Amino acid sequence: MTREAPLTVAVIGAGIVGLCAALEVQRAGHRVVIVEPDEPGGRQAASYGNGTWINPAAILPISLPGLWRRVPGFLLDPTGPFVIRWRDLPRLAGWLLRFVAAGRNWALVGACARGRYLLCKDTVDEHLAYAREAGVPGLIRRDGLMYVYRGRDEFLAERRVWDMRRDFGVRFSEIEAGELRRLQPELSTEYGFGARLDDAGQITDPGAYCGALARLLVARGARRVIARATGFDIAAGRLRAVRTDGGPVACDRAVIAAGIGSALLACAAGDAVPLISERGYHVVIPDPGLDIATGLMPSDGQMGVVSTPQGLRLAGQVELADVSAPPDWRRAEILLGYARKMFPGRAARFDAKPVDRWLGHRPSTPDGLPCIGPASATPDIVHCFGHAHTGLTQAPASGRLVAALVAGDVPPFDPSPFSATRFAR
Ligand SMILES: Cc1cc2nc3c(=O)[nH]c(=O)nc-3n(C[C@H](O)[C@H](O)[C@H](O)COP(=O)(O)OP(=O)(O)OC[C@H]3O[C@@H](n4cnc5c(N)ncnc54)[C@H](O)[C@@H]3O)c2cc1C
Repeated sequence: MTREAPLTVAVIGAGIVGLCAALEVQRAGHRVVIVEPDEPGGRQAASYGNGTWINPAAILPISLPGLWRRVPGFLLDPTGPFVIRWRDLPRLAGWLLRFVAAGRNWALVGACARGRYLLCKDTVDEHLAYAREAGVPGLIRRDGLMYVYRGRDEFLAERRVWDMRRDFGVRFSEIEAGELRRLQPELSTEYGFGARLDDAGQITDPGAYCGALARLLVARGARRVIARATGFDIAAGRLRAVRTDGGPVACDRAVIAAGIGSALLACAAGDAVPLISERGYHVVIPDPGLDIATGLMPSDGQMGVVSTPQGLRLAGQVELADVSAPPDWRRAEILLGYARKMFPGRAARFDAKPVDRWLGHRPSTPDGLPCIGPASATPDIVHCFGHAHTGLTQAPASGRLVAALVAGDVPPFDPSPFSATRFAR
C-alpha cells in the first residue's frame, strides 16, 4: 500500500498500455475505473493487430541519421514499407520535420535509446508474470525473434545499430545460411543471414491477452465504464472527474492511455503533443502450412512475420495519412506479396482462403519516446501514450512508472525523458 492509497484512479483507454498501467495502479492498492467505449484490446485498438513482438532490443528509434535522404522515396514509391499520402502532407509536414530532426545524429539516437532501454529491457519477464496471473501463460512464446537479411553484407551495413544494441546488453546470435535453413526450412534461399534476439518473445494473440488482463482487473475489483472520455473537471488545480459521453466519472487521479485518441485529452489537460498515427496493416493467412517458431523480420519488407492461433500474421507498413482516411488495402497486398516471396513453397496455400486484413494506428510522437508524466493542468492527470511501434513491448515498464507517479511515490526510473512538456520547448 502506498502513501496516498487508496485513491480512485480513472484509466482512460483499455489497450495494452492502459491495461498494464491499471494493473500496476491496482497492485499499489488503489481503486481502478477503466473508461473505454469498446472491447479492451478489440479491433479498434493498435494492441489488437500488431506484430506480437515483445522485444528487449527495440531500443532504437525509427528515425536514424541519413533518414532525410529517403524521404523523397517515401513520397514517390507507393510500394515501399514507409509511405506518405500526398494530400495529407501539408498537415503532417511539421511532425515529419521533427521526426527527421530527432534522429539527425548518433548522439541524439543514443540519448533516445537510453530512455527506450528502460522501457524495453524486462518486457518478456513482465508480460509472463501478467499472463500467469491472468491464467493465460500459453499466450507468451519465448523463442526469440530474428531479423533476416539477404546476406551478411546487408547485416554489416547496419553494424552501428547492432553494436549499440550489444552495448546496452542486448544478446543476439549471428545465424549463417545453413543454420537458417535448419531453423526455418520453408524460408526462401534469398535470405542468407539472420540476427536472432535470444531473449525476445511474442504475445501470440495480443487481442485475447488484453481481454484476459481486463478480466483480471475486474476480478480484482476494477470498475468498467463503457464510455468515451471527452475532457476533465478541474477545480483549484485538482482533478474532480473525467468527463465522458455518458456523464462524469468522479476520481482523484486520471491516466490518459487512449492511444491515438490521447492527443485531444492531453490538450484538455494542458499539453499540446505532436501525436500522429503511423498507420500500419496486417494480414492473417489461415492454415498457411508452416509454423514460425522464432518470429521473423525480413530486411526488405520490414514487417513482423509470426505464427498466431489464427494463422500466419504479417504486420507492418508505415503509412503517414490522416487517422480518418480510408484504408489503402494495397498495403495489405504488399504484405501478402512478401509472404509469397519469403515462403515460395507455400505460396499456393496463401490464396486458398480469404485472409483477415486490418488497419491500426500507432500513436507516434516524432522523437521516438512516449509521453509518461504529469499533465501541465494538474499533476492529478498522468499521461501514458505515444508508444508508436513498440507499445506492446513497453507497456509493463510504462505502467510501473505511471503507478508511482499517480501516487507521488519514488519512480522506478528517471521519468524526465518522457515529459510531455519537452514539445513545448
Ligand atoms: C501494424 C503494427 C504492428 C505493430 N507491431 C508491434 C510489435 O510487434 N511489438 C510492439 O511492441 N508494438 C507493436 N506495435 C505498436 C503497438 O501495437 C502500439 O504501440 C500499442 O498497441 C499502443 O497501445 P495503446 O494502449 O497505447 O493504444 P491502443 O491499443 O490503440 O488502445 C487505445 C484504447 O483507447 C481507447 N480510446 C481512444 N479514445 C478514447 C477516449 N476518448 N476515451 C476512452 N477510451 C478511448 C480505444 O478504444 C482503445 O481501446 C505495432 C503497431 C502496428 C499498427
